This record gives sequence, structure tokens and C-alpha cells, in this order.
Amino acid sequence: MSSLTRKRDLRTGKPIWSAHRRPPIATHALVRDVKTDVVVIGAGISGALIAETLTDAGLDVAIVDRRGAIEGSTAASTAMLQYELDTPLHLMAKRIGREKAERIWRRSRQAVDALRERTERLDIDADAATRGSIYLDGNILDAEGLAREADARRRAGFEVELIGPAEVEARYGIRRRHAIIGFGNYSADPRRMAAGYLNAAIARGAKLFTPVEIVGVEPHERGVTLRSETGPILRARHIVFATGYEILKGIPRKGNRITSSWSIATRPQPRAIWPTAAMIWEAADPYLYIRTTPKGEIICGGEDEAIADAAKRDAKLAAKTEALSRKLAALLPDIDAEPAFAWAGSFGTSQVGSPTVGRIPRMPNCYAAMGYGGNGITFAMMAAQMLRGAIMGTGDADAALVSFHRKF
Ligand SMILES: Cc1cc2nc3c(=O)[nH]c(=O)nc-3n(C[C@H](O)[C@H](O)[C@H](O)COP(=O)(O)OP(=O)(O)OC[C@H]3O[C@@H](n4cnc5c(N)ncnc54)[C@H](O)[C@@H]3O)c2cc1C
Repeated sequence: MSSLTRKRDLRTGKPIWSAHRRPPIATHALVRDVKTDVVVIGAGISGALIAETLTDAGLDVAIVDRRGAIEGSTAASTAMLQYELDTPLHLMAKRIGREKAERIWRRSRQAVDALRERTERLDIDADAATRGSIYLDGNILDAEGLAREADARRRAGFEVELIGPAEVEARYGIRRRHAIIGFGNYSADPRRMAAGYLNAAIARGAKLFTPVEIVGVEPHERGVTLRSETGPILRARHIVFATGYEILKGIPRKGNRITSSWSIATRPQPRAIWPTAAMIWEAADPYLYIRTTPKGEIICGGEDEAIADAAKRDAKLAAKTEALSRKLAALLPDIDAEPAFAWAGSFGTSQVGSPTVGRIPRMPNCYAAMGYGGNGITFAMMAAQMLRGAIMGTGDADAALVSFHRKF
């Protein structure tokens, strides 16, 4: 029987996280029918955050995944947990209106803060760190564009600094670039973070079943029936598709597209890290982005291309690894840019860099969390908050901004 969601080869190569152990997660085989309040399909960071918050709300939750736990895109993420979105605020304002753009940006900020607060409160050990950001000028925003962006962010209440080339070089050793400095972003090992949230949900009674392929969904007025490939049925009052870039067939695409992204990581070099260890990214297409780990490894990603085909993506791994290493060395001449890890992943982009979250049209009691865009993990947190509101009936002030019914 064919799957409900498009199956993809999500990643290849050796992500830096594969060198670190992640905590064990208790999984079960699905051998008999299950009845629960909510079934979450997908055990990546989205499913983990959603399951954790729903169990916190007192719901009985089952999580299923056709792979193992955290074997999808989350294992390839570079996990820069930024509030700054792909689309600069002032350009997003031109496309969807200033009020909506400011609300999306503010909500993104709140989602990063919530992720940090919750991760700390749950005492999840995920190598997390709070970091600022250095947003460099590029082919999307030049110096003047950055100035306009800094004004737009200040107007919306964000704390930023706008600095010129002399100051950028004096502080960070990066030459001939203008920059906006931002504050209060977050970074983590995405596998350990997802494991921590899954384990928090499991400690409250959630059950994780793997490998379970969901092949049929029958929504009805009072709930949803799911069919698994091996036979057992799952019955729930609500279901959530947290299936990442393996999108549910037949639902509105909202302009989302699958592309490819490549990443490298260096050996630990704590003494070579620039002051503040802020994340570095560019107002450019394709962009380059750089972060550090608490051990002093440097992760660099980007070089994105509009390639959906995994074989074509993988064929470029060697050339992209070299290109990333070269660009990293050119930007930060004092570091060792030799890759110790290199990997590639499918990547989902969205039209204005915002996610799609909420009730799926014409499928009662079914919800989706589609965190497409460069801030996938920030969006996963946003989705967890919003879906809790939708399922508990309390609502969410920003739900309409990211719903399937929005106009952009
Ligand atoms: C190279 C790369 C770099 C990135 N960098 C960043 C970054 O710096 N910051 C950031 O915020 N985001 C980043 N992202 C995006 C972010 O990693 C993703 O948005 C996020 O990991 C998606 O998590 P998920 O749980 O939604 O999906 P996944 O981790 O893919 O999990 C979805 C799960 O659903 C399961 N599934 C699908 N269909 C079915 C079915 N029919 N039955 C059962 N199970 C099913 C799959 O097996 C899979 O395990 C990056 C992504 C990549 C690839």
C-alpha cells in the first residue's frame, strides 16, 4: 500500500552530530490497535516539541515514525535557532503588509525565547548556547538595504546594532562588510534536543512506535482513524502531521518547494573563534551561514540550489564541500576551514520564509506542522505552541498568519 506522505532520501554524508551520542529513547513495535487523544506522525524535532507540549497539556499522545526516532531531516540540521527570518523584515512588509510582517517576526522571536526557556526548564542537555548574530551585506541587501532593515527591525521593537566595515573588521576580523548585529538567538545539537523533548513526553506517558508507516487516514466528525502498513489501527481525537519535508500528498502546497542544502564542520578550534562566537549569515542568495559549537567546532552551510532530486544533490557533495570550505576560509582567514564532516540534506523553502501550521482544509481533526524556510526549528516551536492552542480549544493570537487559509 502506498504511503500517505511522499517518501524522500532526506540526507546523505556524515553530519557533525553523528559523532556525538544521543540519549536512548524507548520505542515500541506497533503490534495491536491503539486508542489515544492525539497521534503525532513524525519523530523529528517538530514531532518531539509537539508531543511534549501536548502531554504537558494533559493529553494522551502516541508518536509514530516510519524510520527510527530522529532519523529524518533533524539529524542533518545545522540548528541555528534564529528569530531572524530568511526574508528581511522590510522586504516581507512590502509583500504581505507591515503589520503582518512585524507580527511574524515578533512571533519568531517569541518562539526562540520559548525554545530556550522550555529547554532550560526541562533540563535538556543539548549542548545549547545563546548567541548573537552578524548579518552581513550581500546581493539581497547592500549597505543601504541593511540600514533600511535595521530601521524596520528597530521600529518593530528589536534590539539591533548597525555597524560599518571598520567596526566589523575590528570586532570580528571580517573584512569589507557592513553588518546588522542581533542578539539572543540559540543553537543546539538538534538530535539531543529532539531526544530530550521526546523523552520528556515519554516520561509523561506518551508512547513512541517505530518503525510505523502510516498508509491511510480517515478523518470523521469525532476523530481520526489511521491505518498502519503492517495492519494495526490507530484511533485518535486529533492527529498531527509532523512529517517534515515528506509532505502529505494532496494538501495545499502554499508555495513550499523542496531544494538542497550542503554543510561542513571543522575540528574543534576554541582559540580561533571570533569574539562573542555570534552566528554569521549573509543577506545573499545563495547564502553562507556559520555557527560554532560549545567545543569550538565551526559549522558552515549554504550553497543552496533548487535541486529536489537526491541523487543530483549527493553528486554535488564533494564540490560543495570544497566551495563551502573555500568561502569559509575567505571570510574568516584566521580559522582552519578544513572540513572534518560534510553532509547534504533536502531542504524546504517557503514563499516569504514563513511556515504553514494548523488545521488541514477538508480534513476534520487533522493538523499539519510544515516549518518550511531557514528557521525550521524555530517554526517547530511555533507549531507546538499553536497546535496546543488549536487542539485544546484556547486558540492562538497568531494562528491566522501561518494557517492554510492565509492569502500569501
Ligand atoms: C542541511 C540542513 C540545515 C538546516 N539548518 C537549519 C538551521 O540552521 N536552523 C533551523 O531552524 N532549521 C534548519 N534546517 C531545517 C530544520 O532542520 C528542519 O525544519 C527540521 O529538522 C524538520 O524537522 P521535522 O521534525 O519537521 O522533520 P524530520 O526530522 O524530517 O522528521 C519527520 C519524520 O516524519 C516521518 N514520516 C514522514 N512520513 C511518514 C509516514 N507516512 N508515516 C510515518 N512516519 C512518517 C519521517 O520518517 C521523519 O522521521 C536545516 C535543514 C537541513 C536539511
